[in-house]
Amino acid sequence: MPDHASTDFHEHETAVRPDDRFDVVRSDDGRWYTVTGLCPTCRATVVFRVAYGVLGPSKRLWGRDPHRPEPLTGSVTVFCQCGYPHAERPPESPDTGCGAFWDVPVSGTGAGQGAAS
Ligand SMILES: [Zn+2]
Ligand SMILES: [Zn+2]
Repeated sequence: MPDHASTDFHEHETAVRPDDRFDVVRSDDGRWYTVTGLCPTCRATVVFRVAYGVLGPSKRLWGRDPHRPEPLTGSVTVFCQCGYPHAERPPESPDTGCGAFWDVPVSGTGAGQGAAS
């Protein structure tokens, strides 16, 4: 396993490292976004899937076309779900990662392109 850092679990907001790339892929029906990248804290590859419409800022767009929402803009909050054991994680915690969460910017222009220059 490549350098997974076995940090103690704690919920904390962190930030994407400038040299890390995250892939954001929109599902065909526009209802799901899958974000893939390295956890800034424990360096595990995290695949995070979010249902579009659950996200707060986009609710105002919800309802125009329930079958195909407009592309998400802004950012997606990703929680680490690395699946590795992290000390101090409460047994009742639904998290499966180190407790880190961070925002990944989403370009509204298409699937999988990220913010390429
Ligand atoms: Zn981890
Ligand atoms: Zn992590």
